[in-house]
Amino acid sequence: MTTHYDPEAELLERGVTVYEWELEYANAVTDVEAAVWVDPRLLQRERRATLAHELEHFHIHEEAPGRLGPGVESWFKPSVEAECNERAAVKLISFEALVDACKWADSIEEAAEELHVNDEMVRARLRTLTKAETRTFDYQVGRGYAARLRGRPLERRTPLRRKA
Ligand SMILES: [Zn+2]
Repeated sequence: MTTHYDPEAELLERGVTVYEWELEYANAVTDVEAAVWVDPRLLQRERRATLAHELEHFHIHEEAPGRLGPGVESWFKPSVEAECNERAAVKLISFEALVDACKWADSIEEAAEELHVNDEMVRARLRTLTKAETRTFDYQVGRGYAARLRGRPLERRTPLRRKA
């Protein structure tokens, strides 16, 4: 049910070195040139989601080098972080896989496990849905859920109720 997108393979193909490093305030960091440092304590699905996010930093940097402004702190702009998550989420989770996972999952966390990503990516994918996709999602998973889940902050065990 998961898509076969493999961000780690894509990073390696680009010649980027993925170092394992225990990080205190992030799951991973990158210089957007040659290296990514990823926390080795992440679960496999968290690592996949995290590396997909980091890879989008490379893409955004290449598309518009001047956009972020100089300095490392510019990479942590909330708008850029959200954009990286959404771009990564679309590649990690197909619409069909999202709907299928959310149909039976009781929570965002369960859906994330099924989709082999972290919770953040499921939420990010929900934010990317078009109007038409939202209608389909709500019809198949439950009325209003896509919109409601989109707006929610991260919390534990978010219920994903099925249609009766
Ligand atoms: Zn980031």
